Amino acid sequence: MDHFIYKNGVLHAEDVSLTEIAASVGTPFYVYSTATLERHFAVFDEALEGLDHKIFYAMKANGNLAVLRTLAAMGAGMDVVSGGEYAKARAAGVPGEHIVFSGVGKTEAEMWQVLNGGIRQFNVESEPELRQLSRVASAMGKVAAITLRVNPDVDAKTHAKIATGKSENKFGIPMAKAREAYKEAASLPGIEVVGIDVHIGSQLTDLEPYRQAFTKVAELTEQLRADGHNIHRLDLGGGLGIPYERSNEAPPLPVEYGQVIKETVGHLGCEIEIEPGRLIAGNAGLLVSEVVYLKHGEGRDFLIIDAAMNDLVRPAMYEAHHDIVPVSEPEAGVEPTPLDIVGPVCESGDTFAKQRAMPPLKAGDLVAFRSAGAYGAVMASEYNARPLIPEVLVKGDQFAVVRARPTYEEMISRDTLPSWMES
Ligand SMILES: *Cc1c(COP(=O)(O)O)cnc(C)c1O
Repeated sequence: MDHFIYKNGVLHAEDVSLTEIAASVGTPFYVYSTATLERHFAVFDEALEGLDHKIFYAMKANGNLAVLRTLAAMGAGMDVVSGGEYAKARAAGVPGEHIVFSGVGKTEAEMWQVLNGGIRQFNVESEPELRQLSRVASAMGKVAAITLRVNPDVDAKTHAKIATGKSENKFGIPMAKAREAYKEAASLPGIEVVGIDVHIGSQLTDLEPYRQAFTKVAELTEQLRADGHNIHRLDLGGGLGIPYERSNEAPPLPVEYGQVIKETVGHLGCEIEIEPGRLIAGNAGLLVSEVVYLKHGEGRDFLIIDAAMNDLVRPAMYEAHHDIVPVSEPEAGVEPTPLDIVGPVCESGDTFAKQRAMPPLKAGDLVAFRSAGAYGAVMASEYNARPLIPEVLVKGDQFAVVRARPTYEEMISRDTLPSWMES
C-alpha cells in the first residue's frame, strides 16, 4: 500500500499534487512519501513482534539523508556496505551502535573508519577479511564484533544479477566451511563472535528459499553453540520482493515472512536482525517525467519522455518492469493504445517499456513510474551529461527538495583541467 493516489483527477503524493511539484522543481524528478516509508517500516516491526528484534534498513536502496532520518526516527538502524554509506548514516544522525557493516570487499581504511566511529557489528564475508579485521582492530586496541555471512547454497529464484545465495555467487562463506571459519574467528585477538549472517538475494517473491536458508542457519547455530561459540544474534538479511506489476503480482507479505522467521529460528533465543531495503523504499517513491514527443514510427509509436536510463537504470539493467501511469487521471472508457516508452539517451537500451497499453498522451503531459523509490536515484548517473535529477520528500501537505538538481555549471566544474592546459 502506498500514498500515491488520484485526487480531483490528478495523481498526488499524500496531499500534494504532482503537477504542483513539477511546476516548482521541473521534470524529471523523484518524489518520496513519508507516510509510506513509515508504514513499511511499521509493517516489518509488527511482523517480528514477539521476537527480540531490530530492523537495519539497507540504505543502498535509497540513501537520501532525509529518507534515512525519517526511518531512523522510527527506530531503524542502518545496514551499510561502504565507508561512504557509513558516513551518510552518521550524518543522518544514526549512532554507530545502530549500524551493521556488510559487503564482500571492506577495505582496511573502511575498517579503521567504522571501528573509530563506532559500529554494532561487521558481517564478515571471508577468511581473509576476518584476518584483516583482526589486525586492524588489534592495532587500534579494539575488538570487533562479528557475524560470519554464510552462503547456504539456496536458489532465491530471482533475477540472476541480484541472487546472492548460491555457491557460485561471490558472497559469504560456504556452509561446509563455516565451523572451521568460526574456530579461526574465535582464536583471533581482534574478533568477538556474536552471531551468524545470511542474505540470499533481492526481490524474492517466494518464501520457500527463506525457509530453506533460515533452517540451515538454525542448524548451524546449534552446531556452533555445541562447538563453544556464543551465538546470540542472527542477521537474516533483506530481499523481500515488492509488486512491480500490480495487475498480476502478489509477493508474500512481511507478516508471512515474519512467520517463517519465527518458525525456523524463533526457538533459538537469539536477537533477530533483518535488513530490508526495497520493501521499505520501493513503493514509497515515484519517478515523474514529462512527455517530450509522441512519434509515429513504422508499425509502432514511441512515447519519448525526458527521463532516461541514467535516471532509472532498472529496466535496462535487470529487464525490470515499472508500472507507468499518467499524472492526469484518464477518463473512464478511453481506449488505451500500445506504445514504446523511451528516453532521449543514445542507446536502444534506453527503453522503459515496449508496447505498453497507455491512455492518450501528448507532449507536455506528465507520467509517473511507480515503485521507483528503491534502486532508482541511488543508481543514477550523469551519462549523456544529464545532471542528476532532484529528489523531493512529501509529508502530508508539505514538500521539500531533499537533493537539488545541479546546474550545468556545477556539473561541469567537477572536472578540472591539468596545469599544462591553458584555461
Ligand atoms: C542489498 C542487500 C540488502 C537489501 O536487499 P533488499 O532486496 O533491498 O531488501 C540487505 N542486506 C544485504 C547484505 C544486501 O546486500
